[in-house]
Amino acid sequence: MDHALTQKIIDRLASSKNPALLTHIRPDGDAFGSLLGLGLTLQERGQNPHLYVEGGMTSMYRFLPNANLVQDLPAQLPPKTDCIVALDTSTRERLGQKTHSWPQPIDLVIDHHISNPGYGKLNLIVPQIPATAGVLFYLFQQASWKVTPATATCLFTGLTTDTGSFRYRGTDAQTLSTAAKLVELGADPAEIAKQCYLSISHERYALRKMVTDTISIKDSKKSAFLTILPEFYVKSGAKSEDAEGIIEDVSSIQGVEVGSLFEFTSDGGLRVSLRSKGKIDVNAIASAFGGGGHKAAAGIRFTQEAEKNRDLVLAAISRAVASC
Ligand code: AMP
Ligand code: MN
Ligand code: MN
Repeated sequence: MDHALTQKIIDRLASSKNPALLTHIRPDGDAFGSLLGLGLTLQERGQNPHLYVEGGMTSMYRFLPNANLVQDLPAQLPPKTDCIVALDTSTRERLGQKTHSWPQPIDLVIDHHISNPGYGKLNLIVPQIPATAGVLFYLFQQASWKVTPATATCLFTGLTTDTGSFRYRGTDAQTLSTAAKLVELGADPAEIAKQCYLSISHERYALRKMVTDTISIKDSKKSAFLTILPEFYVKSGAKSEDAEGIIEDVSSIQGVEVGSLFEFTSDGGLRVSLRSKGKIDVNAIASAFGGGGHKAAAGIRFTQEAEKNRDLVLAAISRAVASC
């Protein structure tokens, strides 16, 4: 860990009166956990952070403390904004369409995606830590900033969701030690697990059922993929955020090294999610198509030629699993 860089980031955060905190489109538990975890910490220090994400809060993560602080992206940032922080967001584009016309540069990038090019003025990108929430906890400790039970709850949520409940390969002694400290500081693991994993809506369940029915197993059972069509949302009543997590079903099958999910969007585009059990680097596959992520979880977004691109990604997966 680069201590000089960490200190610069702490100083920059500490000296901002009106920071704007941002995270990625299609936000997950780490996106919201990091956004609120940093937001509440800065608030506690007497600063006035604004928290933004495309579309605002999702129903799944409304249980997080002070969830009402999270707002939809504005057309322009308030003029008083004196520091822009991007959290858990692997590329500038993934901060959302509205941010693309903002004139200001991104001041700080705090992330853990190995594919992050470092699009901020200062970039703290730590791929060894399996969630941005863990990077923030490290920062808070270095800064000796108080972690309240509310912040601990947000950070624990980021850590548990991005590690698949501490099951993925990135989970190490350090991760579990951070989790233990967050529990000591007031996070309730059973309550967070209940909210994150045992509270799925009936619409989400209906969508999941339709999607898992599309399963196709390929490559001598070493890969499998799922499909989402626009009409699934109409039939189930689910929202696009309800697709999060479905891919874990397919990659949990014995022998399947790479699981993928292809979501055909109503504008003719294609959203791809990739998961690996460890032998295959899916970030390498995604990066070849302009996407990115981590070795074990990555994604790609195509705006056109959905079927052709689906076939190209499937062919790349076949080539990758052929060697394992
Ligand atoms: P997902 O499959 O959407 O859960 O994403 C898996 C991981 O890949 C996450 O860490 C994302 O941040 C990253 N990711 C997803 N889509 C993209 C993309 N189009 N470009 C870069 N990174 C992505
Ligand atoms: Mn995320
Ligand atoms: Mn993350």
